[in-house]
Amino acid sequence: MDSPPQDYVIMPGRRRNDHCGVVGFNGKVNISLYLYYALRALQHRGQESAGIGVFNNKIIVTRGMGLVNEIFNLDSLKKLNSNVGIGHVRYSTSGSSTINNAQPILIHGSAGDMAIGHNGEISNAGELKEFLESQGISFSTESDSEVIIRLLSYNISKMGNIVEGIRKTMSMLIGSYSLVLMINNRVFAIRDPLAIRPLVLGEVENAVGVASESVAFDTLNGKIIRDIKPGEIIELKEDGYLSFGTIENGHMAHCMFEYVYFARADSIIDGRSVYDVRKNLGKILARESPVEADIVVPVPDSGRTHALGYAEESGIPFVEGLMKNRYVDRTFIIPDQMGRIQEIQLKLNPVKNVIKDKKIVLVDDSIVRGNTMKKIVNLLKSSGAKEVHVRIGSPPIIAPCYLGIDMKTRSEFIAAGKSIEEIRKIINADSLAYISIDGLIEAIGFNRDDLCLGCLTGIYPVKIKGEKYREQKSLDIY
Ligand code: SF4
Repeated sequence: MDSPPQDYVIMPGRRRNDHCGVVGFNGKVNISLYLYYALRALQHRGQESAGIGVFNNKIIVTRGMGLVNEIFNLDSLKKLNSNVGIGHVRYSTSGSSTINNAQPILIHGSAGDMAIGHNGEISNAGELKEFLESQGISFSTESDSEVIIRLLSYNISKMGNIVEGIRKTMSMLIGSYSLVLMINNRVFAIRDPLAIRPLVLGEVENAVGVASESVAFDTLNGKIIRDIKPGEIIELKEDGYLSFGTIENGHMAHCMFEYVYFARADSIIDGRSVYDVRKNLGKILARESPVEADIVVPVPDSGRTHALGYAEESGIPFVEGLMKNRYVDRTFIIPDQMGRIQEIQLKLNPVKNVIKDKKIVLVDDSIVRGNTMKKIVNLLKSSGAKEVHVRIGSPPIIAPCYLGIDMKTRSEFIAAGKSIEEIRKIINADSLAYISIDGLIEAIGFNRDDLCLGCLTGIYPVKIKGEKYREQKSLDIY
C-alpha cells in the first residue's frame, strides 16, 4: 500500500474520523486493562491519538496524542478503575491532528452524560449539524462524531427512551459508523445498517465487549461471540448482552479495503479470515495475470499475504527480497509529505544477493498515488533485478472514499484516467496487472451487492453529493 493523496479538502461541517478503532467493555471486574490492551491490538487503525472513557460516579474521559502506550501507563490506568468503559484510537490528516478531535467525545447533554467513540464517516453531517444548530445546540469541534453524539442526545431526550432515540438517530445518519456509546454507566454498541466498518462482539474473563477487530479479543485471551449485525443496537451487560434488533437494509456494503489492506491479517471480519482473503487475492491474481519469473517478492508488510498466495498458485518461489525496518512507522500513517519521503528510504532495503539478475514478481495490496511503488521498482532495478513485474491485489483505485478511509482526492490517484500501460510506464515496471473486480469479489466471498466498491467503481452504497450511488431502500424503512 502506498501513500494516500494529501490535499484532502474537508467539506463544510465535516471532519473525518476515519482510520479509527473502537472498543467497549462491561464486566464484573475492573476493565481498564482490557480497554488498554484492546486498544493496543487495534493500534494499526489509528496512531495519532487515543482515549479511554470510564464511569466512576460520572463519565471520566482521558485522551492524548500519540500511541496508546505513550498516553497510558499503570499509574494512569489505576485512576480509570471501573467495570464499564469505552476506548478509541484515531488517525487523521495533518489539519485535524489535534487533541480537540481525539475521542471518546464527552458531552453533558439533556439526556445525561454521554461519551462516544466512532469509526466511520457521516456523509450528511453538515446538514445534520445545521439542523441541530437551528434547535439551539452548539458544537465545540468540527468532528462528524460530535454531530452523532449531539443528535443522539437530542433524540433521546426528545423521545424519552434511549433505544428509540438511538433508532431515530440511525434513521437520520447517512454514512458509515461503528460506534461505542456510554450513557452514564450504560455501554452500547451500534453498527450502521450497511455494516460498512467492522464491529465484533466478544467475551473475556468476567466481561463482555465489542471491538473493531477480533484481534482485540485474541490479545485478551478471549473469544468472539459474533459480529454485530447490520443496523444492530447492542447493550453490553456485566454478564452478557442485550440486542435491540437490527435495521435490515436488504443488503450490506462491507468495505472491501478492510480485507485488502486496512485490517490486521489475523482478524476475522464478518466471518471471513482476512488472511485467507488476502491469500485468495494473490492466488486469483496469479491465475488472472501469470508471468514468467524467478521469484515472487512481497512489498512488506502489506503485500506479504497476497504474495504468498501468488507464489503458491504460480509455483514461483516466495522470497523476502525487501527487508523492512520495523522501527519506522507505516508510510500510510504519516501525515506529513516530507516525513513520508524520508521514511520510505529508511523503511525498505533490498536483499541484493537474492534479487540480483532475477526476474521478479513484485506483489503489493494496492496502489494509490504510485510514488512508493515507483521508488521500490527503481530500488530493485538499481540493486540488480533483471525484470520487475508488478502485481496488485486490488483493482485500480479511481475514486475517493467518503466512508472512512483516507483516500479523497481523485486527481492524485495514479489510476484515475490512465490506462494500465500508462501507469506501468510511470512506475517503471516491466509489466503491471491488477486483480479484476470479479476476482476481488470472489476472493472476499460476499455477493457484489454486499460489498462497498465505491473507490473502484465510483458508485457508492450511500448518497454522496455529486457522486453516483447504487439503488437502495429509503430511510423510511426505519
Ligand atoms: S469507498 Fe473504498 S475504501 Fe471507502 S468504504 Fe468503500 S470500499 Fe472501502
